[in-house]
Amino acid sequence: MASLPNEGRSGEHNPTSKATTQEDAAAGTATSADVAAAPSDPIDSPNDGVSYREMLLGERFWYGAETVPSRGLGTPDLSDRLVNEAEELLSDRRFGWVSITDNPGGVPMLPPDWLAGVLSPRAERVVVHETCKDLNRNGLEANAWRYASEGFDNVLALTGDYPTEGYGGMAQPVFDLDSVGLISLLKSMNDGLEVRGRRGQVEKLPPTHFFIGCCVSPFKRHERELMPQYFKLALKILAGAEWVIPQLGYDMRKFHEVKLMLASRGMGHVPVVGNVYILTKTVAKVFNSGRLAGCVVTDELLGKVNKYAAGPDKGKQFFKELAAKQLACFKGLGFAAGYIAGMAKPETFAAIVDLANSYGEEDWRDFMPEICFSQPDEFFLFDHDPKTALAEPTQINPEYLKSLEHPPKPGEVGLGYRLSRSVHSTAFTRDRGLWGLMRWIFRDWDEQKPGFFGRIARGVERGSKGALYGCKDCGDCSLPDTAYICPLACCSKGSRNGPCGGSRDGRCELDDKECLWARAYERLKYYGESESMLDRPAVIYNPALEETSSWANTYLDRDHHAPRTKTEDQ
Ligand code: SF4
Ligand code: SF4
Repeated sequence: MASLPNEGRSGEHNPTSKATTQEDAAAGTATSADVAAAPSDPIDSPNDGVSYREMLLGERFWYGAETVPSRGLGTPDLSDRLVNEAEELLSDRRFGWVSITDNPGGVPMLPPDWLAGVLSPRAERVVVHETCKDLNRNGLEANAWRYASEGFDNVLALTGDYPTEGYGGMAQPVFDLDSVGLISLLKSMNDGLEVRGRRGQVEKLPPTHFFIGCCVSPFKRHERELMPQYFKLALKILAGAEWVIPQLGYDMRKFHEVKLMLASRGMGHVPVVGNVYILTKTVAKVFNSGRLAGCVVTDELLGKVNKYAAGPDKGKQFFKELAAKQLACFKGLGFAAGYIAGMAKPETFAAIVDLANSYGEEDWRDFMPEICFSQPDEFFLFDHDPKTALAEPTQINPEYLKSLEHPPKPGEVGLGYRLSRSVHSTAFTRDRGLWGLMRWIFRDWDEQKPGFFGRIARGVERGSKGALYGCKDCGDCSLPDTAYICPLACCSKGSRNGPCGGSRDGRCELDDKECLWARAYERLKYYGESESMLDRPAVIYNPALEETSSWANTYLDRDHHAPRTKTEDQ
């Protein structure tokens, strides 16, 4: 989930601040939130003891807030601010939890559990983010063990933003797993991770208790971007995600649509957290420019922002009201909670919550039309209800339904794609066509006991797949999963389980190509397969197969296409 890297709000941190803060807490030093609360309030927040899981699964609408760690250790004059702000939020009865980001914007920062460690007595009210951009699967697992051992069970699993900078140049992105793979890993840890022991026997490790969250990025203009987002969300939930937070945005109709989409797939029970990012003139300009992946501010909203920002209060009241009205709408629409982020101090967050709570029960219905900043010609899965300005819960977009019946032929469906489908259907579909024969042949030609014909077959494979798909020879081929577009050659994050949240107008977040998943969607829709494009278990590729024959690996059940046991599929 994209968020602005913190430079202005929390400042930098002094290494001594953890000790100072813990001592202060132990000594009962009052924070500004304590001062703001009623004199009879206990020092501990009345929310202590209620876990984030209980908050999201209970009846009450809760509020949470985001904190963003800093880059570097800070200077004495800026010390403690970050820790104090997080402590202040957790001591404030208005806030149920704080959420701590993991290198947002792809910029290196102190890791989330550094700050979470300071807040560890309230671990059950802390959400830590975990992203796949900087760590391979072992790094992610080790990180998750650390979270579990520190008591941080609430984890938001994300693919992460593409790294933007690093020491001596840009950091090499990792993306060994994507968000679906990470969710599967965390779910497997919850089930008791099965690992190979020293003597080769399978051991089941003690289970963790992660409450696994995921993100969805619904603010997409085109059908070919939005529908794969929704399909991927369903895949994440099937892989083990237990709660959802949509990307920040300013169109309540789209937020509402996420809930409707989940309900339409029988997933309406999954709690959804409404995401509010407090705008400023600068932030609105950045979001409008498209420089921050997945964050959208339309020209219409930017016009309003500029108008109010030119006023005597520089738009402060407008920004606060916008955020408060969004929170009121989330509550009215049955979201489990509202989550506030932005370059603001805890007292601003609290003032916004107070404002949201000051509205009447049904006022949100009047606000709704004011907060539907859709993009020009934006695609919606559900029809529009002009009376409420929201999505119409019982009516799927009729044009979409019609297009499913008679999909136009897109430029994406060319000779290469048709040929790929035909070859796959004839020779690579299990137990059909040439499958049995090829399997028998490849047992003989297997590269692991190479012979003359095996070497010839390998040469043919490398040459043809290189020329047709730009194959990088990963050996665990996902072409059938991605409508025959190589994820390593055509996706900056190598995503094999659906799109990341970064595309804009159908283009990759790096803006150097069309998004692989938008292209795959168009191809599959023409053949009536778009709706089921991600109806499959998570794909987790095996790097051990690199530079080996993917054909042999498929025929000999060494890759991710091999039949899985029931446990593996879960
Ligand atoms: S084998 Fe790997 S690198 Fe080659 S086309 Fe398939 S997915 Fe791409
Ligand atoms: S091609 Fe699509 S899924 Fe891949 S990194 Fe770009 S926007 Fe994300």
